[in-house]
Amino acid sequence: MSDRDVGAAEATTGSVDDDNPPVRRVSDWDADRLAALAADHETPLYVQDLDRVRENCERLLAAFPDADVRYAVKAHTGRAVLEAVRDAGLDAECASAGEVDRALAAGFDGSRLHYTAVNPPARDLDYVADVAEAEPELTVTAGAVDTLDRLAERGYDGRVCVRVNPGVGAGHHEKVTTGGAAKFGIPYDRAAAAVRAATERFDVVGIHAHAGSGIDPDQLDSHRELVARMGELARELIDPSGDTDPSDNDPSGDGADADPVDLEYVDVGGGFGVPYEEDAPPLDLPAVAAATREAVAPLPEGVDLAIEPGRYVVADAGVLLTRVNTVKPTPDETVVGVDAGMTDLLRPAMYDAYHPIRNLGGGREPDGGDAPPVAEREATPVTVAGPICETGDTLGTNRALADPNRGDLLAVGVAGAYGYEMASQYNSRPRPAEVALDDGTATIARRREDLSDLTVAERHPEPDGGDRPEAER
Ligand SMILES: *Cc1c(COP(=O)(O)O)cnc(C)c1O
Repeated sequence: MSDRDVGAAEATTGSVDDDNPPVRRVSDWDADRLAALAADHETPLYVQDLDRVRENCERLLAAFPDADVRYAVKAHTGRAVLEAVRDAGLDAECASAGEVDRALAAGFDGSRLHYTAVNPPARDLDYVADVAEAEPELTVTAGAVDTLDRLAERGYDGRVCVRVNPGVGAGHHEKVTTGGAAKFGIPYDRAAAAVRAATERFDVVGIHAHAGSGIDPDQLDSHRELVARMGELARELIDPSGDTDPSDNDPSGDGADADPVDLEYVDVGGGFGVPYEEDAPPLDLPAVAAATREAVAPLPEGVDLAIEPGRYVVADAGVLLTRVNTVKPTPDETVVGVDAGMTDLLRPAMYDAYHPIRNLGGGREPDGGDAPPVAEREATPVTVAGPICETGDTLGTNRALADPNRGDLLAVGVAGAYGYEMASQYNSRPRPAEVALDDGTATIARRREDLSDLTVAERHPEPDGGDRPEAER
């Protein structure tokens, strides 16, 4: 692909492309445009810019020109985003039957579909085994021998990748650190044996590890360690006698007379961090790519490196717009009440995640007059709190915002990953709307839910849609 060739040249010269900066900050968004979108579509409203999604894909492909780049769909499953990512040339990494279904609908064929099964429900395995009959190029990544057994029981004998627990983890919060958690993957010292056994029943094409989210500038060491371990395991599997590789120390200790495994790739997962704080530096992607290549080396001829970024592809392409409805001075701080909360953006409540918040203004003074432009207002320390009856329902605490007024529009930045995806109807709140920007043109990507969406499953309890009107299915 010519785009990838151009990108590769840039990556090796290390030049920074002015048209494709490493991060888009909340301050970079056009305030008037966001205000117009909020006026047209009301709030809370997600805005996802497909042009920025494409830029992020291009930067990844440029930094990893020889790797298989797979988008971790769970970060943002919107149809328009999936299509943009597909067109950019990435594969799809799916965490459930639902994500496989969405990826198929968005035009990924089996050869570009990777389903990573973690304690998969039976109906997910049934579904994927079914899909695999029509799409035999699909790959299932399994992190337990039980999962492999359950695949075999369904007659599946296709492409399998074995998820390994490398025993090292990275992550910005313990809840997103997976590499060290026993839940994910086969323990490293049992992995080689499990892979070899799996070759009896499946076409084993890869090994995989995902260390959790948040490969940050200061966490490159654990990333390097994970990648090095995976490279070592791959060499041992491909060349069990180790006679072409003096550094091979036979991690499983039992492989010297085993048959070589014909791996296609070594997948070192996602977790590429994005800067949430306004002053945090962006990830130096070429440096991460160089460290990754160096740590995994030498991979035998014909074996590819694979990565699975989710957040990095979509996070800074999205903002959440929310309107101030309450300004409440208290002795300790000013509480700014807004119409979006943890049901719209869960990350602050769930992970103590930081999202930058910008006041775009437009509100009214208490006496009813127009509030001054935000540039003319003092910065005031505030807590931004949502409408949910939970103490944890704050979007940010102790933030210096241009003195808020009722009616002001706030932009919550870097909300494009794990934002809408984690939205819920808790407190019987319909989920927000989302617009996609494509070359500047806004289209409704997901309509705002209304009160009838809250009760549709109880009003129509029959399986398979039952008597539900076609329009609601
Ligand atoms: C979530 C996930 C990813 C992506 O993680 P990001 O932090 O969004 O890059 C990649 N691979 C697997 C298996 C995952 O579960």
